[in-house]
Amino acid sequence: FPAYFTAIFIITRVMSIMKISKPLDIHHKDIRAVDLATKLSVDPSAIESASRDFGGIVKAEPEAVLHPSAPQDIAALIKFSYSNSVPFGIAAKGHGHSVRGQAMAENGVVVDMRSMANNRRNGTGIRISIDRLYADVGGEQLWIDVLNATLEYGLAPVSWTDYLYLTVGGTLSNAGISGQTFRYGPQISNVLEMDVITGKADFLTCSPRMNSELFYAVLGGLGQFGIITRARIPLQPAPKGVKWVRLLYDDFSSFTKDQELLISKNGRKDKSALDYLEGSLLMDQGSPDNWRSSFFPHKDHPRIISLITKHGIIYCLEIVKHYDDRTKHTVDKEMKQVLQGLNYMPGFMFGKDVGYEEFLNRVRSGELKLKSQGLWDVPHPWLNLFIPKSQISDFNNGVFRGIVLERNITTGPVLVYPMNRQKWDDRMSAVIPDEEIFYTVGFLHSSGFDTWEAFEDQNKDIMRFCNKTGILAKQYLPHYSTKEEWVHHFGSKWKVFQHRKYQFDPRMLLSPGQRIFNNN
Ligand code: FAD
Repeated sequence: FPAYFTAIFIITRVMSIMKISKPLDIHHKDIRAVDLATKLSVDPSAIESASRDFGGIVKAEPEAVLHPSAPQDIAALIKFSYSNSVPFGIAAKGHGHSVRGQAMAENGVVVDMRSMANNRRNGTGIRISIDRLYADVGGEQLWIDVLNATLEYGLAPVSWTDYLYLTVGGTLSNAGISGQTFRYGPQISNVLEMDVITGKADFLTCSPRMNSELFYAVLGGLGQFGIITRARIPLQPAPKGVKWVRLLYDDFSSFTKDQELLISKNGRKDKSALDYLEGSLLMDQGSPDNWRSSFFPHKDHPRIISLITKHGIIYCLEIVKHYDDRTKHTVDKEMKQVLQGLNYMPGFMFGKDVGYEEFLNRVRSGELKLKSQGLWDVPHPWLNLFIPKSQISDFNNGVFRGIVLERNITTGPVLVYPMNRQKWDDRMSAVIPDEEIFYTVGFLHSSGFDTWEAFEDQNKDIMRFCNKTGILAKQYLPHYSTKEEWVHHFGSKWKVFQHRKYQFDPRMLLSPGQRIFNNN
């Protein structure tokens, strides 16, 4: 009895706040109002948590938060909004690790996807097919849980992000990139099929052969076309451990030449092929280590720091080769072959041998350390870009050695590493430069609560520099505030993107926090 009235109270309140004029019919078969209402929360702490993200810069309050226990709850919510005369925005929130409010829904409803974690009974969770080498994974699952579940069978996905406390639905809505991307493609290139609830509340399975338009729309689709409730991820036998090497360069051209040489060898049979390649800048930040991973032996810190002081910026190439029981005796020899002929600074090669899981989950210890110091939940004015290979040297001169050194405020990791266009599928929504090799550059700033604007100014300066000098940079994890900017971002893909929106979410309900179709 009390639950019934609480439910009616909540849904009536939500509807009145949303100014939905249609009278509430709790017996309506589509809405199944009482079921839905018990899962809708207007609790201030739920609202507060759905109004924030990792970026800590944008704040937008929803009217309610849905805690679904099964995909059917999400479908009912979408149907409710879709069929209403005044529809409201709906945003799936995975782990809320966006930096610009992308998972928020101002005055709408945020779907807390994590409520469905471990709900195997209702069709989500993680289920592994050992025979067919894939995992069926709920969109709400964290990649760390996918890793742990698959490792139990000696298997693992091949394409990762640097940090694993992100949801499958969240990274597939962007791309999911890391040092494996040059070899295996981004995570969106490693999906066999998905279950998706569209903006019309259609619950569809899609793959390259079935509902393929929806499949490609959703991959890199910034949550615009549907909510991913399941993804089928291919698996391979997991390696046991990794040989992990970092090489330092004072010369950008040698650094990128070596990176490009190394990613050109990515064939499975090529013994000098690597399993992972990234790169980053070392700048005067007190220590050559940062939260992304602590790597360099302490005894070497002073000489690395004096190198940084001398050159302003040192470039760090990071590579990995996997090994298993069969290859553990030959991997050192193979790594030696990889290193031959590279132009890093003599004496500045550092190596480690760690377990596979420890390597993949390398960011976690830095996160926990920062959390314990109260430095994790601070503003993160990040800027992530894709830069064509032909313009990366101009970018180094104008941005790394220009804007960044001049402003001298950069804190946190700055990543720079190449990937191959051929490992991406142009039918997917993700936007990348129009060159066979392009670099990702990530400024992963942490700032104080009252200093993030200085980083924002630097980000704007960088974008202005690119525009002025004709560097065809594309934002990764993009955020824009006007339609014109979005049209420019998508370029030749805009028409298809827009057409797919009309097809799968004609009432523009989904992921309003991206501000693509509702940015008036
Ligand atoms: P959220 O922030 O919750 O959501 C992101 C977007 O996806 C929103 O628009 C949301 O509505 C939509 N969405 C969420 N779930 C679903 C779903 N099930 N179906 C449809 N749409 C959905 N990215 C990389 O590629 N490589 C990295 O190495 C990397 N490292 C990172 C490290 C840190 C510390 C952080 C904070 C972020 C990192 N990212 C990286 C970025 C990250 O991949 C994206 O921000 C991603 O969206 C975060 O996932 P999430 O689950 O938190 O998504």
